[in-house]
Amino acid sequence: MISALSLLLITTGLAVVMLFVLTSLAGSKIAGVREWGQANAIAILGLVLAASRGIVPDLLSIEAGNGLLAVAICLMLAGFRRHLGQPVPVRLLAGGCILTVAMVAVFHYGVDSLPLRTMTVSLFHAIVCCAIGFGIPLPAQARLRYACLFTKGAALLLALGHLVRGLAFAFQADVPAGFLEPTTQNLVFFALGTLALPGLTLGAVMMANARMVSDATYAAEHDHLTGAPSRRAFFAAAEREHARAVRFGSELGMLVLDVDYFKRINDTRGHAVGDQVLRDLVRHTRDTIRTVDYCARIGGEEFAVLLPDAGADTALAVAERLRAALDRSLPAAPGLAVAYTVSIGVAMLAEGESVGSLLARADEALYMAKAGGRNRVVMAGMPPRPQRAGTGRGAYG
Ligand code: GH3
Ligand code: MG
Ligand code: MG
Repeated sequence: MISALSLLLITTGLAVVMLFVLTSLAGSKIAGVREWGQANAIAILGLVLAASRGIVPDLLSIEAGNGLLAVAICLMLAGFRRHLGQPVPVRLLAGGCILTVAMVAVFHYGVDSLPLRTMTVSLFHAIVCCAIGFGIPLPAQARLRYACLFTKGAALLLALGHLVRGLAFAFQADVPAGFLEPTTQNLVFFALGTLALPGLTLGAVMMANARMVSDATYAAEHDHLTGAPSRRAFFAAAEREHARAVRFGSELGMLVLDVDYFKRINDTRGHAVGDQVLRDLVRHTRDTIRTVDYCARIGGEEFAVLLPDAGADTALAVAERLRAALDRSLPAAPGLAVAYTVSIGVAMLAEGESVGSLLARADEALYMAKAGGRNRVVMAGMPPRPQRAGTGRGAYG
């Protein structure tokens, strides 16, 4: 026969399991993990004290037990808020915990009333669970959205459960004589409560995992220095645009641009100024190209731009506009202006041509621009005969 005590012990066991799961995330540097871990550790202590009613002094099982559980749910909220980059109202939460314990003590030593104690504790947990549920936004990104939706739902369901529990104790006749009495009502609430903290912690772990996968994907697809898409992301985008151009018979242009005498900038001004030039270049390229165009860093100081639905004239015009925009003097520091220019090779996708071949022709045109004196645009000639479209990505290196 299930008893309230056995359900309390199951909750304790689940909190221990969740603590192990959270420990596996300890090195991840994900904000909130520390607070969630502390919440579960403190809850374990609180649950053990609550389950020890009659064995340890009431002060420990009632006031200390409820106090620790109140601190645990507040730490869960603090973890979620830190994870989401929201401020944590530490004083408000500490004040709430102290007030809850004080009221529990009043309804224990003043008017000894289990219903009033339960109402107080349930109301506090309901408020904190509401704060968790309503504080979690629903991001557009599907991976993050699912984890947030789960946690938000769990928190609001818990808030509702606590509210119903508080009201049931206030108005229902089936009030248990003792905290661990096996009345139907008590068992139902304990059974729901069993899943409360583990459910919230599961949501927290899901959110942390979704964030890690999302961060790792972003890092793989973006260049850390400039924020531009990486070489890998560029080839994925180029294959998509290539397939679209082949399917709809539309045109596709590609630019490859390279900073002129960049090594000289590094050597005379320092590597940090060279980095500033690269960031400046990406910012100004983004301002110059259309929103449908795609600019990525494909090498050290080499960038590529995809121009979907652009004919040769448009591609040449964009390239010339970009060259002019990047013939600039960057105020790198007070009194220090660094001038730089770029050379650009342009190629248009030919019938039956692969992405690799298109890039190679744009690269050839770039080197012709370099050989022609730099700070200029050269359009590649069309390939002599149609080539078979490539499929693998390995060739791009
Ligand atoms: P050219 O006009 O022929 O392109 O000459 P260049 O000096 O620009 O070409 P080169 O290939 O000799 O030099 C490229 C330099 O870019 C060498 C490398 O140290 C530097 N570089 C590559 N990546 C970075 C980076 O992330 N930051 C900085 N500051 N420099 C980088
Ligand atoms: Mg260069
Ligand atoms: Mg180069």
